[in-house]
Amino acid sequence: MSRSHPLDCYRNIGIAAHIDAGKTTTTERILYYTGKSYRIGEVHEGTATMDWMEQEQERGITITSAATTCFWREHRINIIDTPGHVDFTIEVERSLRVLDGAIAVFDSVAGVEPQSETVWRQADKYRVPRMCFVNKMDRIGADFFRTVEMIRERLGANAAVLQLPLGVEADFAGVIDLVKMKAVIWKAETLGAEFYETEIPEGMRAQAAEYRARLVEQAVELDDAATEAFLEGREPDEATLRALIRKGTIALRLVPVLCGSAFKNKGVQPMLDAVVDYLPSPKDIEAVRGVTLDGVADVRPTDDAAPFSALAFKIMNDPFVGTLTFVRVYSGALQGGSYVLNAGKGERERVGRMLLMHANSREEIKECFAGDIVALAALKGTTTGDTLCDPAHPIVLERMEFPEPVIEVAVEPKTKADQEKMSTALQRLAAEDPSFRVAVDPESGQTVIKGMGELHLEIIVDRMRREFKVDANVGAPQVAYRETITQRAEVDYTHKKQTGGSGQFARVKLVFEPLKPGEGFRFENKVVGGTVPKEFVPGVQ
Ligand code: GDP
Repeated sequence: MSRSHPLDCYRNIGIAAHIDAGKTTTTERILYYTGKSYRIGEVHEGTATMDWMEQEQERGITITSAATTCFWREHRINIIDTPGHVDFTIEVERSLRVLDGAIAVFDSVAGVEPQSETVWRQADKYRVPRMCFVNKMDRIGADFFRTVEMIRERLGANAAVLQLPLGVEADFAGVIDLVKMKAVIWKAETLGAEFYETEIPEGMRAQAAEYRARLVEQAVELDDAATEAFLEGREPDEATLRALIRKGTIALRLVPVLCGSAFKNKGVQPMLDAVVDYLPSPKDIEAVRGVTLDGVADVRPTDDAAPFSALAFKIMNDPFVGTLTFVRVYSGALQGGSYVLNAGKGERERVGRMLLMHANSREEIKECFAGDIVALAALKGTTTGDTLCDPAHPIVLERMEFPEPVIEVAVEPKTKADQEKMSTALQRLAAEDPSFRVAVDPESGQTVIKGMGELHLEIIVDRMRREFKVDANVGAPQVAYRETITQRAEVDYTHKKQTGGSGQFARVKLVFEPLKPGEGFRFENKVVGGTVPKEFVPGVQ
């Protein structure tokens, strides 16, 4: 078996936006134009494809982080859904950890909103290359240039304007592509599926030339050879300009800005082109760090024969398949039915079915490879943030950082008979969501749940009712409580190497604990039996 697409043709992207900026609509249009979603549903009617869960449809917010695979120009695009509500920055955080690039969607009337700033900072922290889509150009009060200014000033981004809007509000008809220097106009009759290129209208040529000149300057100044050529009077050709924009974007020195109206079906295809042209493939990103028995290692996706490693970033309950563990594969390959080691927990697990999730279908696959984002069925002990790896090559990938919960409520099942069911439900939900904690107060015996905000806990209680059929009363906790669930991970296995001269094998327990953000891990070796060679004590990284 081999990959369906070479690694350079992968794009693992997220779409981030302030709630209501149009992320769901944009995602849905992407799935429509890439051919895997055959119906355009209206978000307010609750038929959007990415909004899986009933309650999301009712609330009109996307809280899950499902990954969906689609194809564009011979590229495989995995869209990792990121939520827009501030209570779920944890979800944004975990998706940023596994994606390689992002599209930030803005409402052209509202411009850069507070939540976009939060997400932007998080993306900075994870060094995620990104581009911007200024959406809702059809709305009254839409202002592309003001939004671009806000992107520059509020977010401090080196915004590179790649398109100008052609018309505005009700007259918004398409865009001027400043790389090709053409106008692109969409046909309303075919829901935007058809569009054509034409000459830039007379009245916009001067403005287009001015913006094109700025774009060229921004692109060439990031590259010495291009700067030299430019100073000698040679303008980069289209392919060179694209390559320069790509390089600048991946180096986080440039942020391409596009515009459109997802709702009116304008601007989505060039946005997909830009994903392919400018956002990184898994090859272009920095190596991920992991801890092995031999110390800290860099994990790169270059060789499919390398040992398998993957990070679990989302656990979902699928109505048809049961529990699905979404993983990002960082190295090697994995066949369905084989065993993996959950290195942090020291447990082996057998992988059941392996699925690729498309907008309207689930595709069963036999093998997955570095760069892939897939859903694994039948894993029992794996929780969000765990590393799965080749049992012969234990590794724990750098942990995700989960913010500490900030609010707490006491929950009590409405009937005594539900107590046990509630405890199972809460344990399951806590396994899915590391920023959600459960504790039982030793004095009052109350169950206390702790999360990132009111809405976060409301949704937990709602999910308990819908998915686990437990009705609970919610109230303020009586007394302070102690936490019972922690983020500590332990590995316990026999070291395969012979120790220096003695011929003994070491049985070792490694304990990994996340330190403060940016500080990496701390791990202590605890000898359980045998002898540990000196070089085997990696110390603080
Ligand atoms: P999300 O919260 O970011 O996922 O935003 P949605 O995609 O749910 O969109 C929020 C609202 O804005 C919905 O009522 C959409 O129909 C509407 N909307 C989305 N895109 C556009 C657009 O391009 N133009 C206009 N006028 N409305 C839009």
